Amino acid sequence: MKPIYFPEPFRIKSVEPLKMLTRQEREKKIAEANYNVFYLASRDVYIDLLTDSGTNAMSTNQWAGVMVGDESYAGAECYYHVQENAQKIFGMPYIQLVHQGRAAEKVLLPILLQGKKYAIANMHFDTTRAHVELSGARAIDCVVPEALDTTKYYDFKGNMDCDRLEQYIKELGADNIGVIIMTITNNSAGGQPVSIENIRKTRAIAKKHGIKFMIDAARYAENAYFVKQREKEFQNKTIQEIIAAEFEGADCFTMSAKKDAIVNMGGLIGCRDKALFELIKQRCISFEGFITYGGMSGRDIEALAVGLEEGTSEDYLKYRIGQMQYLAGRLEEAGIPFQSPVGGHAVFVDAKKLLPHIPYYEFPAQALCIELYKEAGIRACDIGSYMLGNDPDTGKQLEADFEFSRLAIPRRVYTQSHLDVIADALINIKERASTIKGYKIVEEPPILRHFTAKLKPIS
Ligand SMILES: *Cc1c(COP(=O)(O)O)cnc(C)c1O
Repeated sequence: MKPIYFPEPFRIKSVEPLKMLTRQEREKKIAEANYNVFYLASRDVYIDLLTDSGTNAMSTNQWAGVMVGDESYAGAECYYHVQENAQKIFGMPYIQLVHQGRAAEKVLLPILLQGKKYAIANMHFDTTRAHVELSGARAIDCVVPEALDTTKYYDFKGNMDCDRLEQYIKELGADNIGVIIMTITNNSAGGQPVSIENIRKTRAIAKKHGIKFMIDAARYAENAYFVKQREKEFQNKTIQEIIAAEFEGADCFTMSAKKDAIVNMGGLIGCRDKALFELIKQRCISFEGFITYGGMSGRDIEALAVGLEEGTSEDYLKYRIGQMQYLAGRLEEAGIPFQSPVGGHAVFVDAKKLLPHIPYYEFPAQALCIELYKEAGIRACDIGSYMLGNDPDTGKQLEADFEFSRLAIPRRVYTQSHLDVIADALINIKERASTIKGYKIVEEPPILRHFTAKLKPIS
């Protein structure tokens, strides 16, 4: 089947010129960057797929909101606007602004985890895991086993494994578990969706055991679009109705607005319990700022208020998820392996399968990212052994389950031709795959090394 591209439900009013370097220039730039894409200047990148977080293009209405934004310290107009929209979309009475997703985690998780030992999630995003650990608890992932097989089709690879969850609760004791978290979509599993059936089942388990149920809601709208496509009960519901079903009965949520709310900065916390909200507000004032601005400028709050709603447009989501499916379709046609079916915000190319001659300790996914930059000025990032790092006890390189080169697609930023450039570059690389060499690290910091390590090609 020929890949389908759903046309953009917008036209372009303002453009950002890009520089196109020659292959020779790119080879020089990546060598100067020590073969680490995080050292590249963005002016030297043609298509930037490093992340979909905060890299979104705003609409005319959002830019108008930037002008309207009220910069009053307390009680600004934009504060009431974002409250009203968030209450309507998520169905929770209490909403707190914060400056991004991890700020929401920093404010909320220590409250939920006070005196507790564990948080259990379908999968914790890295910052969520970090804040669980900073709260003195341990983070346990409990995703369905289907998520681990990149070639097997499954509608909802982001789901919680509910049987295993029940088992964990029995083994660890409900009193020791501070929160059960549902991440929608499941970012760490490749932007994979979670079904409403699974959310309901998980929520019922949490409720039965008296454990708080929280949603990590960064991709609330993309998840709803998948539900509409794949879950029978919801095929005739609106995206807004499906979002309401996602949040129904949840005790609270944290949200990075830098994803589905189509802004460049922002975050939210929501809850139903007044006493919990009082604690949230107190911590917010210490860490983020007064409750009516929560670490945001008024102009950004107004853009967020508008984006929360724009992100739920079905035409927009059809185009958005369609971009992922178009790119994945072109790769499939060419026999390039990726996490399948493709998720909501990125295509995860399986470098272990594309470059089988490069062992994990020579970083096949990183090698593929460097080839992509040399080939066409595309910046992707390694989600594999290079990112995973060394065993803290033995200092030995760990082997990751997957060697992915992640192509994250910013919202409303690139066109079909850009996606074709990406597919064509990968097809060219596939043809000479066996000649591509691995890399070794020549300098690295002890933690989070992938941001700053220096590498060299193996000759
Ligand atoms: C991005 C993200 C976060 C963290 O949000 P930031 O805005 O980057 O701080 C938390 N959870 C999920 C699922 C995310 O995708």
